[in-house]
Amino acid sequence: ADDRLLSAARAPEDVDAALRPRSLDDFVGQEAARANLRVFIAAAKARGEALDHVLFFGPPGLGKTTLAQIIARELGVGFRATSGPVIAKAGDLAALLTNLEEGDVLFIDEIHRLSPAVEEILYPAMEDRALDIMIGEGPSARSVRIDLPRFTLVGATTRQGLLTTPLRDRFGIPVRLNFYSVDELEKVVSRAARLLGLPVAADGAAEIARRARGTPRIAGRLLRRVRDFAHAAGHDLVDAPAADAALNRLEVDKLGLDAMDRRYLTMIADIYRGGPVGVETLAAGLGEPRDTIEEVIEPFLIQLGLVARTARGRCLNGAAWTHLGLTAPPGAQE
Ligand code: ADP
Repeated sequence: ADDRLLSAARAPEDVDAALRPRSLDDFVGQEAARANLRVFIAAAKARGEALDHVLFFGPPGLGKTTLAQIIARELGVGFRATSGPVIAKAGDLAALLTNLEEGDVLFIDEIHRLSPAVEEILYPAMEDRALDIMIGEGPSARSVRIDLPRFTLVGATTRQGLLTTPLRDRFGIPVRLNFYSVDELEKVVSRAARLLGLPVAADGAAEIARRARGTPRIAGRLLRRVRDFAHAAGHDLVDAPAADAALNRLEVDKLGLDAMDRRYLTMIADIYRGGPVGVETLAAGLGEPRDTIEEVIEPFLIQLGLVARTARGRCLNGAAWTHLGLTAPPGAQE
């Protein structure tokens, strides 16, 4: 799944870092989230306090890491980043926390993947800015409390519901990130093109934006691939026809769906007559982990209205049949 072109997951070769907006003003879209963050950041600075803990949730590639870095920069504090699966033991987190400087932002990506033992450490750290550690064993064991510097935890996850309730409740500022509109992605593409020194015509940027699955990371990635095809074809300027030709060769269709999205839709159509079909069955049939299907593939297909999640399983909507160029069999759902 990692070679999937449209995969919104991070890839090591990505030069994402160069394209990251560095301030809230520079960050495109997510208006409500930005407006709120601006207020909370200004208030924390005015009071000389650490910002309350922030939880970002939404599909991969929408800007959670970028916003975490921006928060640190706007607060004028240090930024430390780690991720849930990387923190194996309670001691690893304790070491991270005791090394923070006053006011720092600690970013934990995939925070829903912290082990329960590590989560236990996090509760008092978030709530009381303290670390409770056990010293000794057996009857003589006692708990010692260590004060931590004031810090802001910024957590990121794909869905808020993946967090345990006690962890979720300790975030004062939950922020949902949504898919971007085509207009917003057009700005993202034009900005990235400028930073990469790439001549991209307005209609070229629009074509890439329309097919970027609502996701800035994918917009940036498509832009680079389109540039490669344009260069190979001897074009200096990326315009709509050049973008269209390149995206077709990349098998990104008019809606921005890639081969995996179409395999998903086609499987429901051909084998399950449009559903309902359970997600485990689809995962087995597609050879993809259930998480990938639920967190990466489905959110955008649902947003487009192609698929519905029902209590009995996934169903294709009429628009999906149309998009696949198929006719729904008589008696199919919807
Ligand atoms: P996430 O942490 O949600 O997976 P990132 O913050 O790593 O996403 O963003 C992925 C890429 O998309 C980065 O290269 C970033 O520069 C770009 N990006 C994300 N959001 C925006 C935005 N609002 N404006 C411009 N570029 C963005």
